Amino acid sequence: MKFHVLTLFPDMIQDGMNTSITGRAVENGLIEIHAVNIRDYTIEKHKKVDDYPYGGGAGMLMQAQPVYDAYKAVAGEKKLRVVYVTPQGRVFDQQMAGELAKEEELVLLCGHYEGIDERVLEEIVTDYVSIGDYVLTGGELPAMVMMDAISRLVPGVLNNDVSAEFESFQDDLLEYPQYSRPEIWNGKQVPPILLSGHHANVEKWRLEQSILRTKQRRPDLYEKWRMRHDKGGKSE
Ligand code: SAM
Repeated sequence: MKFHVLTLFPDMIQDGMNTSITGRAVENGLIEIHAVNIRDYTIEKHKKVDDYPYGGGAGMLMQAQPVYDAYKAVAGEKKLRVVYVTPQGRVFDQQMAGELAKEEELVLLCGHYEGIDERVLEEIVTDYVSIGDYVLTGGELPAMVMMDAISRLVPGVLNNDVSAEFESFQDDLLEYPQYSRPEIWNGKQVPPILLSGHHANVEKWRLEQSILRTKQRRPDLYEKWRMRHDKGGKSE
C-alpha cells in the first residue's frame, strides 16, 4: 500500500514512520511512505505557503495553490482518495482503518497554522477525518496515527498475522488481559486457567474477560455489543 503525505514537515513523517514495525514494513516493500513537501510547489518567490485569512481573525492559513499543485504532482490524472486530517472530520476508528487498508494508494493532507483555504479542500478532498475531539498544531501526528493503524492491517506487516486476529474493537469488545513469564511476579499469580493447556476453556475465559472489561471501561461499546448479541434487548 502506498501513502502519499502532503505536508510542510516531511522529515517528521519519515522519522516517525521509518522505525519499528512500520519501518520494517517499508524495508520489506509492504508499505511505501511518500512524504511530499508542499513548500516545494509554491510559486511565491520567497517560498511562502501561508497568508492572512480574509475577514480577519487570528493566525495564518495555508494557501490553495501550493496544496493543489502538490496534489496534482502526486495524483496526475488518477482519481485518488484524499483524506484531509482535521478536527472537523468524522472520528477515526478501527472500522475506518480496515476500510482504508483496502486502498492501493491513499493521499493524506496535513494542515498547519489555522488550516487550509477552503477552495482547495472542495477541489481535492474526498474524506474529512479527525483523530479525536481536541486541536493539535498540525496534521502530521494524525496522519501518522492513521498510517500506523492502517498499515498493521496490511497483510504481512505484523510478524504473526494471528496477533491481529483478536484485538480490541473487534466485535465491539476490548481485548482480554494478557500475561507473560514469570508465573508469579510481585506476589501476583497468572490466572491458573491460562496454564491449564485446555484451549476451549482458555478461549471461554478470554471472552468472559473481554466482556467484563468492555462493560467496565467502555460502557458505550459494551452497549453496542450487547444490542447485537442479545436480540431481545435483555441485559447480561
Ligand atoms: N482552525 C482549525 C479548526 O478550528 O478546525 C484547526 C487548525 S489546527 C491548529 C491545524 C491543523 O492540524 C489542521 O488543519 C489539521 O490538519 C490538524 N489537526 C489538528 N487537530 C486535529 C485532529 N484532532 N484530528 C486531525 N487533524 C487535526
